[in-house]
Amino acid sequence: MTGKMTRAERKAAFAIVAEQLFDEMEIWYDNNPDATFEALEDRARHSRRAMMGKALEIWINGRGTGKQSTRPRCPDCDQKMEDKGRVQKTVYGVEGDTQLQRTYYRCPNKCEAGAFFPSGPALAIES
Ligand SMILES: [Zn+2]
Repeated sequence: MTGKMTRAERKAAFAIVAEQLFDEMEIWYDNNPDATFEALEDRARHSRRAMMGKALEIWINGRGTGKQSTRPRCPDCDQKMEDKGRVQKTVYGVEGDTQLQRTYYRCPNKCEAGAFFPSGPALAIES
């Protein structure tokens, strides 16, 4: 989990994540010197996905982006929704799995609708 950071701190955190991917690939290649291109590519794809999940955490959580500049409106009654605080969610994205800290908004009229910011795919679980 990544908290709010300066740009320089985010850059340093990203460099560490990229170095981890490089080291993982080096160790894997040392242990699999006869690997086919396909096996190497498959391993790199796996490592890249893990790296991008961490990078997305750095960008989203590290900027403190978990709040919308204006409160969203309820899709049912058009009232401005209330900020119910931060919720940690695991988002299984295309590029990687990310532990997001997002703001949860709820309608004051108790409509069914709730919203997260940043909005995301339905395939997310609260953790
Ligand atoms: Zn409503």
